Amino acid sequence: MNVQDFREYLDSLPVISTHEHHLKFPPDEPATLERLFSRSYVAWGNVDFRVKANRARFLDVNCGRSYFVWYEKALNDLFDFGGEITETNWDEISEKTSSALADKHFHERVFSEKCRYSWAIQDSYWDPGSDNSRPDLYAPTFRINSFVFSYSYDSVDHNSNNAQHLYGKCEDFDEYLGMIDRVIGEMKAKGCVALKSALAYDRPLDFREHNKADAAKVFGKSKADVSAGEEKVFGDFIFDYICELAAKYSLPFQNHTGLAKLSGSNPMNLIPMIEKHPETRFVLFHGGFPWTEETAALAHNYPNVVIDLCWLPAISTSAAERLLRTFLETAMDCSRITWGGDCWFVTESYGHLLAAKYVIAKVLSGKVNSGYLSRHRAERIAQRILSENAIEIYGSR
Ligand SMILES: [Zn+2]
Repeated sequence: MNVQDFREYLDSLPVISTHEHHLKFPPDEPATLERLFSRSYVAWGNVDFRVKANRARFLDVNCGRSYFVWYEKALNDLFDFGGEITETNWDEISEKTSSALADKHFHERVFSEKCRYSWAIQDSYWDPGSDNSRPDLYAPTFRINSFVFSYSYDSVDHNSNNAQHLYGKCEDFDEYLGMIDRVIGEMKAKGCVALKSALAYDRPLDFREHNKADAAKVFGKSKADVSAGEEKVFGDFIFDYICELAAKYSLPFQNHTGLAKLSGSNPMNLIPMIEKHPETRFVLFHGGFPWTEETAALAHNYPNVVIDLCWLPAISTSAAERLLRTFLETAMDCSRITWGGDCWFVTESYGHLLAAKYVIAKVLSGKVNSGYLSRHRAERIAQRILSENAIEIYGSR
């Protein structure tokens, strides 16, 4: 079977993106190419493309990077500039993107018609639990980072959020725990379909069990008086408690794994919590890159682990291929894999979708050609990855 045939088949399928950070649209400022790149992973590089004189070098040294490759393909598909961004056509493309994104229907057209997203799970970390004011397009996930750091009124997570500022000042630790329970319940009632931890940007993922009394001792101390060890005990205890609440409220718990603070982001660090909370569904984001084999092994051993490929095909397209291949062969079943874009602009999300479809088509058509899978079964797996598994895990809308 031809890869292209399978790739075209994927375009006929609806998609649920399980992870996005879409900014409100139309954007406040002109969506020039520089602006689009600034709010994308392409910006995570060494050459400042906002300086005109740097454009040639930026294009020269980024041309092989997965982040850039897929974004360029998506922009070309949307704005038809002959395949490659060059120094010469840069400003012309920029004018096209600015005027297109200023149209209030553009975002929705790309979302629904190009991407064929039925809906997406939105992580608005600047307003935890919000649906971007578009409940028809987004189901929110509720980011829990702030709870893990708000032992005092002056401590914040990496998004500068403090839970006591956001949800109410607490006099003691019991009141604080009650507040977390109440807020998660309220978020579920207002439509949140999952919890989200981006704690890998704050600290290592080595959460361990602790006595409540030890965590309570930290509560109320000001940030300057709390040692790294005390902060860890407090954070570990709260994370453990949130795992319990995820089960109580039947909310899948999405966890950023891999990269971020790389020295502590190995998903294997989560094993004690995965084992302690068998009723909690741990969704491991980004294939735990670079620990993709470890992530597949977790899906092999633990029935409460789900793998989410979000972002991974754009970090490294070939790592995503390897993980998908290993996952299909090893996971307990193929209902525990999903995909999301993980982007701020829908234009980049479309690029990440092109990357994911490239990966899925290559891996599944390869499995058909080698005689490992029938075409019919390969198609079923693709349907599951792109939307059906998300519906089973997060519910239908
Ligand atoms: Zn994200």
